[in-house]
Amino acid sequence: MLPPDNHVHTEWSWDADAGSMEASCARAVELGLPSIAFTEHFELTRWVIAPQSQGVLERDTGMVAPDGRFDAPPLDVEGYLECLQRCRDRFPGLRILSGIEFGEPHWHRDELEALLHGGAWQRVLGSLHSLELRDGPWLVDELYEAYATGGLDPDGVIRAYLAEAVRMVESSDPFQVLAHIDYPVRRRPASAKPFEPADFEEELRTVLRALASSGRALEVSTVVPLRPEIVRWWHEAGGEAVSFASDAHVPSAVARDFGEAATMVEAQGFVPGRDPHDFWCRRPSGGAGAARTGP
Ligand SMILES: [Zn+2]
Ligand SMILES: [Zn+2]
Repeated sequence: MLPPDNHVHTEWSWDADAGSMEASCARAVELGLPSIAFTEHFELTRWVIAPQSQGVLERDTGMVAPDGRFDAPPLDVEGYLECLQRCRDRFPGLRILSGIEFGEPHWHRDELEALLHGGAWQRVLGSLHSLELRDGPWLVDELYEAYATGGLDPDGVIRAYLAEAVRMVESSDPFQVLAHIDYPVRRRPASAKPFEPADFEEELRTVLRALASSGRALEVSTVVPLRPEIVRWWHEAGGEAVSFASDAHVPSAVARDFGEAATMVEAQGFVPGRDPHDFWCRRPSGGAGAARTGP
């Protein structure tokens, strides 16, 4: 059985026009997933958008304010929860979890606590999508644009991202999972040296140690996908739980490459939870297959 998909977007996320909660449930049933979590975007950070991208975003979304900052539309929580209930009624054999992908929780602590107070969110992902530069928070994707015009170099973007991730993880904000630790790799310029975790080992291990101490789970995203050595360092850091994520924005991407990801994660010492809906957890020492270690 494939692991649960704990990170899926639908039509309720501002950047998932082609998303569909109902079709994503149908896809999950077709794949035999034990559960699926719909973790829609909740973005309160007003990103600085590079001038060359403003026209594109304006045209595509109409969400760039006169001051050049991006304003993500608010999540319609009520509409989302009603849709979730309709899907639960329609797909009784699938466990459908409520969730949220909360951008930069450490910068919006009161708002996150208010949101969590107002409802029973079953999966709360903490995501870092932007980094503070001189003039405000820049969407990481846009930082590479800044690089083209004399900003941070691509390795600098990754190091700055991991340093901010430590600050986020060391906060006591109530999120359960660190989403996409490798997020800046997604848009790394093709002209840069290919990403190698070993080049950032100390920085990655620092984030993973802080995350393990916080008791939160590490997300294994299949977008890049996450490299095995990072999962091995997670195990060595004492990490307890792994959360699988397609970060799908269309139904066909639900549980994308989960078979390969599950095999990789198992080789690094993690196994399915007692309940198939749970996060995967460390293989108990001395248990079956305990001697097996990955590359
Ligand atoms: Zn994200
Ligand atoms: Zn996402």
